[in-house]
Amino acid sequence: MDEMFMLAALAQSRKALPECLPNPPVGCVIGDTQKIVAEGYTQVPGKHHAEADALKQIQGKAFNLLKMYVTLEPCSSHGHTPACALAIAEDCRIHEIYVSLVDSDPRNNGQGLDIIRKASKKVYVGLCANEVNTFLKQYLLR
Ligand SMILES: [Zn+2]
Repeated sequence: MDEMFMLAALAQSRKALPECLPNPPVGCVIGDTQKIVAEGYTQVPGKHHAEADALKQIQGKAFNLLKMYVTLEPCSSHGHTPACALAIAEDCRIHEIYVSLVDSDPRNNGQGLDIIRKASKKVYVGLCANEVNTFLKQYLLR
């Protein structure tokens, strides 16, 4: 199930191109125990990142326990948009987050994950990493 949701997030990632560039094409899926309840991907620079795009769809809706699946570590710093890691940390409906790849950008690189862990959410890294890396690596800073 988790793998299926991450592959759905990868499919969202692909939708971000080419409008998202130079930002990496990230995809995000939010699911409950059975189904996907929201999907998102990186919008044009200055607009919603994938996580914010998905969170927007469940704004104001009640859920007991949600899991988020995102192809790349959520951003930790305010750029043109508020930090996604903070938005996730503050959303009490999301209990677990699966991140496929850690962000190699030195401005992030684990800091996004730390913010979410400090909010007492479970963080899992590496789900479908091979599949996601094959697609995403060419768009990441190294
Ligand atoms: Zn972000």
